[in-house]
Amino acid sequence: MNDYEIVMGLEVHIELATQRKIFCRCKNTFAEAANTNVCPVCLGLPGALPVLNPEALSCAVRMGLALQGEINRNSRFDRKNYYYPDNATAYQITQFYEPILKGGRVEVQTETGETKVIRIHEMHLEDDAGKLTHDMERRVSLVDFNRKGVPLLEIVTEPDFRDADEVIAFLEKIRMFALYLGISDGKLHEGSMRADVNLSLRKAGEEALGVRTEMKNLNSFVSIRRAIAYEAERQAQVLDAGGRILFETRRFDEASGTTKTTRTKEEVMDYRYFPEPDLLPVHLPEEYIRKMEEQMPEFPQAKEARYRRDFGLTEEEARILTRHPATAALFEETLRLWEAGTAGVSDASAKNDGQPEDAETRRRAKAVAARMCGDLMYLCREKKADPGQWKITPEALAELLQMQEAGAITTKTARDVFALMFDKNIEPMVYVNEYHLLITKDEDALTTAVDAVLKAQEKSVSDYLSGKEKAAGHLLGCVMKETNGQADPTQARELLLKKLAERKAAGTT
Ligand code: ADP
Ligand code: MG
Ligand code: ZN
Repeated sequence: MNDYEIVMGLEVHIELATQRKIFCRCKNTFAEAANTNVCPVCLGLPGALPVLNPEALSCAVRMGLALQGEINRNSRFDRKNYYYPDNATAYQITQFYEPILKGGRVEVQTETGETKVIRIHEMHLEDDAGKLTHDMERRVSLVDFNRKGVPLLEIVTEPDFRDADEVIAFLEKIRMFALYLGISDGKLHEGSMRADVNLSLRKAGEEALGVRTEMKNLNSFVSIRRAIAYEAERQAQVLDAGGRILFETRRFDEASGTTKTTRTKEEVMDYRYFPEPDLLPVHLPEEYIRKMEEQMPEFPQAKEARYRRDFGLTEEEARILTRHPATAALFEETLRLWEAGTAGVSDASAKNDGQPEDAETRRRAKAVAARMCGDLMYLCREKKADPGQWKITPEALAELLQMQEAGAITTKTARDVFALMFDKNIEPMVYVNEYHLLITKDEDALTTAVDAVLKAQEKSVSDYLSGKEKAAGHLLGCVMKETNGQADPTQARELLLKKLAERKAAGTT
């Protein structure tokens, strides 16, 4: 195995989350009752005419810009003819001769921390097929055409991958682009992103590419890793034994962890590609491209740098906050609202060169980041939720943080309310009032609470008096509990220590 180099190229399909299908007005939805979103166009009934959905086009152009390739100003569609029960039209509409994107490059970080460029060969738009379900018990196959006509983007890379880490880093990058562009959720296990891996071996130092196999049915990063490891080993064994690799499609079988032949490519399939006569070529004026460029989001790398520069966040904080667009949006919007809410205050304090205001912004950014990087990421893991699948609004979070900063609630209350906000629409101000969680400065109530604790916690009191300073922490906790978290911790601490000192003085005299 050591004397072979692995060479891989990917074909990545992304299901676009457009409102409607690519060539008809049917809704593009996932997991609805079978054959409810169908029409003469996607069912391939005679005489029905396709019309390109402009939303799908704009998704493709924006992905093309992210991939830094050349957007084809004159792309068009072709028919790829084949019959299959999930394909009612008996052809797929794709872009064979003039794809929407030619060339391109994606930078990935390798294991050693270096940056490697993966070249993009091309990217095109096409329509998805329906879905077949084989019911073994009843011995029938069922077809659902809801997926027929869902827009797909296919990205084809050059054979630039040398190991599984590069493949996964690339797919993560593509998924990030899809998420930030808002064109797909990029979920492998739900099929909204699918990757076929083409793999061949060649002797180290050799230029010419070996014969490849194409692996399909890879629906997780784990499967991709296992399939690559198995297939590279299998090919090495064949070659070592003096055998020949067959140019074929292989299916990865999850259960056995092996790949199996599904279709040999040696007898070349002839799809009889020809220009789709029912669709006009797509001309993209300069203006259109410029408009798309303006709509490009700020991607994580740029965001990370900005968060660190403008807000003084750590590398770790910036990375966590930018990993998902929903997280970045919550952070930025919360900070913006907080700033807006206190605009009058900071305007007055920032007279001259704006310095004090900058420091204020950084402090607030830190506070938002602290609540989000710790508690929020923890809650997501705990609840197995994706970023954005929370009920937390920037309005509520800004309000909560402002109350905490104003000393109206304790840190503990802030964290507790924040955790509740994850699955419930809570207005922090209203909630805190309703449950009496506001810090009170009521001296009498506090004195009563401290006295009660000192009486009930004799053991800790004597520990403290005999020099175990740590006991004070426990006592303070008891006071906070006694006041239902409403005491001002600083005030409570002062009063507690004062009372303990009095006792000590009384004890020694
Ligand atoms: P097809 O049309 O049969 O799918 P393509 O030429 O479009 O074939 O290539 C499909 C993918 O296979 C591309 O990602 C390409 O980089 C990759 N590829 C082509 N030749 C090889 C090879 N010898 N080894 C590994 N990958 C390859
Ligand atoms: Mg292919
Ligand atoms: Zn339709």
